[in-house]
Amino acid sequence: MILGAALLVLLGLGLFVAGLSTGIDVLYWLCVAACVAAAVLLVLARRTIAARESAQKKALASAQVPVAAGAPTATPAAAAEPVAAAPEVPLEQADPPVEEVEVTDLLLVVDLTDEVLVVDEHPRYHVAGCSWVGSRDTIPLPLNEARTDGFTPCGTCRPDRTLAGRARAARNGA
Ligand SMILES: [Zn+2]
Repeated sequence: MILGAALLVLLGLGLFVAGLSTGIDVLYWLCVAACVAAAVLLVLARRTIAARESAQKKALASAQVPVAAGAPTATPAAAAEPVAAAPEVPLEQADPPVEEVEVTDLLLVVDLTDEVLVVDEHPRYHVAGCSWVGSRDTIPLPLNEARTDGFTPCGTCRPDRTLAGRARAARNGA
């Protein structure tokens, strides 16, 4: 197309020279027409090139889309996991450690029916006033039943040591 424009310019120049040498008005107008046609062709050629370049850019962009689309889907998934996992064990929801019970205390408490407190969906049993229990809704259970049900003593309020000590004191008093 650029070649066509160049030919038209040459044609225009030829017509211009011919017009000068012959003095015919029509040749001038043909020269002008040829130049205009050349200009139109050049504009069209530039548009075609621009369109081709933008098409190539689009092709490049679409070629990069799988990479670009793969990265964001992977990132939210990776980011979502810690976010989803975090609410499972927030610090105040985490259970206290299991009380380490001395064997002598353990032998005493296994048969005790003293009331301990359990919190729904939590594996520890507590004595009243435990800081972990706080204002949670508690379910009272006899100690031996709580143990049978699989509950373990809270390491914060140490129910086994507390109740063993209470049982020992009661036995000594009796
Ligand atoms: Zn406790």
